[in-house]
Amino acid sequence: MSYAVKEIYFTWQGEGVHTGRPGVFLRFAGCNLWDGVESHRENAVCWFCDTNFVGTNGPGGGRYNSAADLADRVLEEWTSNALRAGNPASEPFVVCTGGEPLLQLDGFLVDELRARGFYVAVETNGTLPPPVEVDWLCVSPKGGSQLAVRAGDELKLVYPQHSASPEAFLSLDFDHFSLQPLDGPDRERNTRLALDYCRNHPRWRLSVQTHKLLGIP
Ligand code: SF4
Repeated sequence: MSYAVKEIYFTWQGEGVHTGRPGVFLRFAGCNLWDGVESHRENAVCWFCDTNFVGTNGPGGGRYNSAADLADRVLEEWTSNALRAGNPASEPFVVCTGGEPLLQLDGFLVDELRARGFYVAVETNGTLPPPVEVDWLCVSPKGGSQLAVRAGDELKLVYPQHSASPEAFLSLDFDHFSLQPLDGPDRERNTRLALDYCRNHPRWRLSVQTHKLLGIP
């Protein structure tokens, strides 16, 4: 198995329950809800994507021929940056994201990351079952797609979305429900809508994309 990786970089988790936690983002190339071509966006199942997941040309990106090679590269990114930040003792944290990471993430890679001490988090659109249990499973459902993952740690819903109202997800087996304003030209309005929704439905917590406010990746 080889892995197509868009980029690997150290940053701070910007959104959701783990906001503020330092970690390495392992961004896999490719997604099953949009091909990443701008001219196809309006007909895609997921049309509001804010991420470049096409190709393997980002920092640390490329094709990795083994799980061990990829895990080594992730560890190198963690070690050099955690040391530079004066924070070598904190638990290594990796966020497997994309694109859609579950198109490629497998048990071998999870094992290799864990063997290097990583707490393994996954951010998925929830259309594919995870190959093995991970430490943190965050599902972000997209309207118009079929949800295959109905349990996990965090359900993070971009709001508002046609055919994905928050009420539809509350019966699922998640510990945390996060509502995140849809970014774009209507971000202020969507933030007010999300705040109102959380005020009236206290099981939902507001998730703000703090990395965008801070200008970090
Ligand atoms: S599912 Fe995620 S990665 Fe795929 S197009 Fe939508 S927002 Fe982008």
